[in-house]
Amino acid sequence: MQNIYGITLEELENYFLYKNDKKFKATQIFNWVYKKRVDNFDEIKNVSKETIEYLKKDFNFYKPQIVKKQEDVDVAKYLFKLNDGNLVEAVLMYHDYGKSVCISTQVGCNMGCKFCESGRLKKVRNLKVYEMVTQILMIEEDIKSRVTHIVLMGIGEPFDNYANVIKFIDIVNNGKGIDIGARHITVSTCGIVPKIEEFTNYDKQVNLAISLHAPNNEIRNSIMNINKVYKIEDVILVIKKYIKKTNRRVTFEYIMLSGVNDSKQCALELCYLLKGINCYVNIIPYNETSNIKYKKSDKNTIMMFYDTLKKNGIGVTIRKEFGSNVNAACGQLRSHYKEV
Ligand code: SAH
Repeated sequence: MQNIYGITLEELENYFLYKNDKKFKATQIFNWVYKKRVDNFDEIKNVSKETIEYLKKDFNFYKPQIVKKQEDVDVAKYLFKLNDGNLVEAVLMYHDYGKSVCISTQVGCNMGCKFCESGRLKKVRNLKVYEMVTQILMIEEDIKSRVTHIVLMGIGEPFDNYANVIKFIDIVNNGKGIDIGARHITVSTCGIVPKIEEFTNYDKQVNLAISLHAPNNEIRNSIMNINKVYKIEDVILVIKKYIKKTNRRVTFEYIMLSGVNDSKQCALELCYLLKGINCYVNIIPYNETSNIKYKKSDKNTIMMFYDTLKKNGIGVTIRKEFGSNVNAACGQLRSHYKEV
């Protein structure tokens, strides 16, 4: 039995062909599921009884459960319990340009970034496609309105669950599915070079963000284990290839950790590293967590860093801080829930 929210339109078309049925039924089913949002086959009207009968045997509409929701003015954080009892989170953020949802892609994470709460739980498993799709559907159902943007920046490393993430994007982006524009979808990776290479050939205009967080190997090695496998110069090289092929601007995320990566020297090194690359840097004020020793940089340091990049011609923004009152840093809601 498969979950209906885990199948792409193309796969559903092939399923109907395999059943010696009509391909267009896939579009009809997608319409009921994603436009009308029915959550059982009995509500589906314009499809023959026989078809519905065999669909019932092959598909279910199982959704995870929302076990906790924490809200602040511009943010709501959801904790989902999956079928097997595992917990993951998603965060809804209200921006002036729309509503974005940050979704999780794995239960736990093996990337081992030292500053990140999610990685304190090692990877248990990849999320299935439907477990990502339903994070969006359930939040839309809860707020009774549509989400406009998706970022894959919750728990997990999207490129360590590549095939499922690509199917997820297909379903949420599909005009007959949830219909969120590719340019409104951002995938963030800590820098798994072969997968970035693969993503270079991906034909959708999805945004790519790289969690860089350091201007050189010495600092990056000290905070991100992945850098011991894929060095900073390898990441930069593959990003150059990606930009050449796709002509798209890349975002480099840079968390400001006090005394670790936030000096003027670091800012200058970063400018040198990124010179001439079609990119911008998104400075992220660190969201402190009680379990981890790192501290956020103070405002003046963040401004100095910002100004240095700007003066050197690097596009730069500072990420708005959301929800430190609601444990919005990746993985915090889950780990608090587990501890209480
Ligand atoms: N594994 C992917 C996506 C999930 S993390 C990646 O590494 O990009 C999403 C972003 O949040 C990453 O840039 C990550 O480094 C950052 N992050 C992790 N913990 C954080 C914290 N406590 N405060 C601010 N940003 C954090």
